[in-house]
Amino acid sequence: MNRVVDKMRADLAVLAAGRVAAGEWSAEDERAIAQSIRSAIEAKDEIRVGDWSRWLALLSARLLSETSGKAVAADPAQKCSDCLHFAKPGRSDGACGGRDDLVKLYGTNHPLGVLPKDGGLSCIRFKREGRA
Ligand code: SF4
Repeated sequence: MNRVVDKMRADLAVLAAGRVAAGEWSAEDERAIAQSIRSAIEAKDEIRVGDWSRWLALLSARLLSETSGKAVAADPAQKCSDCLHFAKPGRSDGACGGRDDLVKLYGTNHPLGVLPKDGGLSCIRFKREGRA
């Protein structure tokens, strides 16, 4: 777990520096994300730690790739329509069944949420269809 946490710390430093410099994150955003990661680690919540570590690794690799001009060999671009949690009820354009932080599609207790604006690009709950 220590090696994972060290890697997460390094990835967060890269990502936060880039996002804050680009004006995409405020100092408060950075603190809130760091706090959420810290609480997952302190709770020894392996699922949340796994989600955060993949998210940090992917986005920091993308950021380094953009600034260095070299392609990222890691995960390909992710999108909601490729995600196991993607649902298409009725005539909707799609909905999410994997995150409880999204606005509900119909009413507060509805199980599906409205897809995020980035289409899942930076979602820590993304799970590629067909993968365990
Ligand atoms: S928001 Fe995340 S979990 Fe939900 S469908 Fe999109 S990528 Fe999957």
